[in-house]
Amino acid sequence: MRKQPLLEVQDLKMYFPLRRGFFGGKISYVKAVDGVSFSIEKGETLGIVGESGCGKTTVGFTILKLYKPTGGKIIYDGIETHKLSAAEMFPFRKRMQMIFQDPYSSLNPRMTVGDIIMEPMIIHNLFGSAKGRVVYARELLQKVGLKQEHFDRYPHEFSGGQRQRVGIARALAMGPEFIVCDEPISALDVSIQAQVVNILENLQKELGLTYLFISHDLTMVRHISHKVGVMYLGNLVEYADTDELYENLQHPYTKALLSSVPVIEDAFTPKADLVALQGDVPSPINPPDGCVFSTRCPRAYEECSVSRPQLKDIGGGHLVACHLITR
Ligand code: SF4
Repeated sequence: MRKQPLLEVQDLKMYFPLRRGFFGGKISYVKAVDGVSFSIEKGETLGIVGESGCGKTTVGFTILKLYKPTGGKIIYDGIETHKLSAAEMFPFRKRMQMIFQDPYSSLNPRMTVGDIIMEPMIIHNLFGSAKGRVVYARELLQKVGLKQEHFDRYPHEFSGGQRQRVGIARALAMGPEFIVCDEPISALDVSIQAQVVNILENLQKELGLTYLFISHDLTMVRHISHKVGVMYLGNLVEYADTDELYENLQHPYTKALLSSVPVIEDAFTPKADLVALQGDVPSPINPPDGCVFSTRCPRAYEECSVSRPQLKDIGGGHLVACHLITR
């Protein structure tokens, strides 16, 4: 039986207006997210991968209503949250949290670790008393592998990995069900990336958390995700269960992305099937007509620059947006 999705995103669009010229004039738009749909079931992780600037972080920010979506639907636990005002979103802020990419700039350097973790509890008036908040904040320190003596220290006294643990503890402070993990390991040393991912996995098992895990690290996304979506220029181009995607990758862009990961190339994909990714990502202000990947795709043909391929199921919920695969 299909599990109930905690989050459904339907045809999500996030365009940022750009006024040309000193006196205004015609407005053009940066189409950061241009019609993305997916769902995440309770207790599962959806990994979103893609190059820098593909719109994956904007998807996370828009789901949390840090941006007001230009179009589409966001349905969280059956509620259409895209329709809610800031005040109406307030109760959802406890349930939906974010772990930020940069543990160096996301923590207030003037606050102790204890105060950083307790700040969201104070804003949402949790635990009633300061004593209750201190007890819970200390519990959270333990959950993320920090020591009790760290409670009164300041962020500058910690390593990058420890700061990201503080960021995780802060995200947990309000007892969320859903966390957007926005490149949570990309600013960390390779040696400690696995530790942070292991903490996230353990917390998911213990607390039943649901994650949207945003990353350009294909190896880590494979490790932590139940499903994976591949984004290019604001569009989802491939989406499948993790094992299916990595063992049966179809879209030319996904193949090109994986070709730059030697370990994955050797382990999962026939070398002859991989292609090198060439050229730059086009501007999201003026994306190509037809397929968004057509200007870099080694397999592009006439139809690709004329009509935009839609995501189609090629079997078992494996979705691909490519004329070659779905014609
Ligand atoms: Fe390449 Fe055409 Fe497929 Fe786009 S639709 S990925 S350009 S083959």
